[in-house]
Amino acid sequence: MSDIIHLLPDSVANQIAAGEVVQRPASVVKELMENSIDAGSTSIKVIARDGGKTLIQVLDNGCGMSDTDARMSLERHATSKISQADDLFAIRTLGFRGEALASVASVSQVTLRTRKHGNDLGTEILISGSVVESQEPVTCSAGTSINIRNLFFNIPARRKFLKTNNSELKHIIYEFQRVALANADIEFILEHNEEELYNLPRTNLKQRIVHVFGKSINQNLTNIDTETSIVKINGFIGKPEYARRTPGEQFFFVNNRFMKHPYFHKAVLSAYEKILPPDTLPSYFIFLDVDPDTIDINIHPTKTEIKFENELAIFQIVLAATREALGRFNLVPSIDFNAEGSIDFPVVRKDDQVQAPEIPVNRNYNPFDEEMRHNYQPDNSNRDNLKYWEKLYDHSGTGSNSLSGTSGAIHRPEQQSFPVQSSSTASDSIIQLKNRYLLTPVKSGLMIIDQKRAHERILFEQYLRSFAMNYPVAQRTLFPESVELDQADYLILCEIMDDLHAIGFDIRDFGTNTVVIAGYPADSKFEHPKELLEVFLEQYKSTNTNIKNSVRERIARSLAVAGSVNYGETLTQTLMQELVDALFACESPGYSPSGKPIVIIMGIDEVEKRFR
Ligand code: ADP
Ligand code: MG
Repeated sequence: MSDIIHLLPDSVANQIAAGEVVQRPASVVKELMENSIDAGSTSIKVIARDGGKTLIQVLDNGCGMSDTDARMSLERHATSKISQADDLFAIRTLGFRGEALASVASVSQVTLRTRKHGNDLGTEILISGSVVESQEPVTCSAGTSINIRNLFFNIPARRKFLKTNNSELKHIIYEFQRVALANADIEFILEHNEEELYNLPRTNLKQRIVHVFGKSINQNLTNIDTETSIVKINGFIGKPEYARRTPGEQFFFVNNRFMKHPYFHKAVLSAYEKILPPDTLPSYFIFLDVDPDTIDINIHPTKTEIKFENELAIFQIVLAATREALGRFNLVPSIDFNAEGSIDFPVVRKDDQVQAPEIPVNRNYNPFDEEMRHNYQPDNSNRDNLKYWEKLYDHSGTGSNSLSGTSGAIHRPEQQSFPVQSSSTASDSIIQLKNRYLLTPVKSGLMIIDQKRAHERILFEQYLRSFAMNYPVAQRTLFPESVELDQADYLILCEIMDDLHAIGFDIRDFGTNTVVIAGYPADSKFEHPKELLEVFLEQYKSTNTNIKNSVRERIARSLAVAGSVNYGETLTQTLMQELVDALFACESPGYSPSGKPIVIIMGIDEVEKRFR
């Protein structure tokens, strides 16, 4: 006997396939739930015992199977979802490989009970380790119920590698959440050891997110919504201050299938850059809808890694859409998700009329003409600027403006040199509350600004610009000041000396732990550079070292915190107006460099409600 190659028995082939598809109880839950969805169910119940190790049962009210189909469904490569290779490029169902049930049946004891709507009787199949034990007619409700007992009973090595019940349950919950989020219009129930963990009624996506993650997420989401020819994006993203240290609320779905996509994840993170507290992750629930023809789902048996034909373009679109969504809710009062049909903020779409912002400039103005200067009434006074930005957030008018498109335009340094009108009318005034907040009326209500955070944001962006343009805005000291530092601080300073020069510090090393400061970045509150340097160093040392943040960003952040006005400082009317103007000339006026909110608006409705 010289020939040694033979075909593997089905049971062995199935077990090998199971190695890829079925890693743990959670994989079974995922496959079965997906089958129920593909079967058109509107209600799906998942029951597990002992982390799914002893029992997983999935019951649905979908289309059910005929006797023959039920028997066939347990064979490998048996599927009703595709029939030819071309179908692989038009997949809208979750399953298509036809291997899940066969794989599961090869490593567990299965009872499949199913009845097609319209048939009087259903069928029940018992199968254990790929061996069919019986099939007989039964009375059962329409739909399908699959019962998986003792997963890996016949592969002790794999059973041994399962984690604790709690840990396996956690994985089941993750899979359950993903499927439940992608299908808000289906009712889902999850029960574990006789305890109901989730009972999710049919609803919309907003409500589904709230039902899954709890009420506190309610106020912290805004919708993301964009349509282009290659991808349609919708869903929700979380506020920066809601970002968590632990991952768990980051979800991408493509054509309603959960996917992991590290590259698009990066796109979302880039949009949040500089407004997230260090080491935190924003929540997002982003649904991409693309032509099935442009993706490849078939690269991994679990189908969570997906290849996109237009990856680069979609990266940019995800980034832009996230930015736009962030910008939009930067300053908008929180949305109440409890209110069904609550306001949806209009979004810029391809065909929207986007108007370029206009900045009225008096071209005849001559600052050296004394008389003219005296009578100068800037059309573009600081107050107008305030009203002007408000328009940006006012989507109720004709055509909405894209924030990203305008923010560059409002930033116009020359405007800051216009003379500030001291004779502002009463309604123009900004009130300082408790030497901490700036209050000013706006069209939609009362705007409250945190003075320190606002100044931090202004300085932060100014310093980043200095770095980017290599053009520091510095002020010189009349008399250079020498500062003696302790050894550690001195070493840190030497390390970042070049960057400090780039940001406007004129510092020279004098040896023996001493430096001399002859200039420092403009606009800090300190009159003595020595103080600024000291506070800066403290701040710099205490900010989280994080490879994600470059040294320069860390410097800009620390210097902004060190140099900003403190709480408790009284600000003059002029200063307050300058602060407000400069804030709204920032790219991200809504959040401090560490991701805390700077501005809130108390809506007029809220005020009226309180008077009722
Ligand atoms: P796939 O989902 O990739 O087609 P599966 O092994 O998961 O492969 O399922 C095989 C077939 O069994 C499916 O194509 C479907 O026709 C049928 N099937 C599985 N689960 C259900 C269910 N809950 N309701 C109706 N039909 C089902
Ligand atoms: Mg399937």
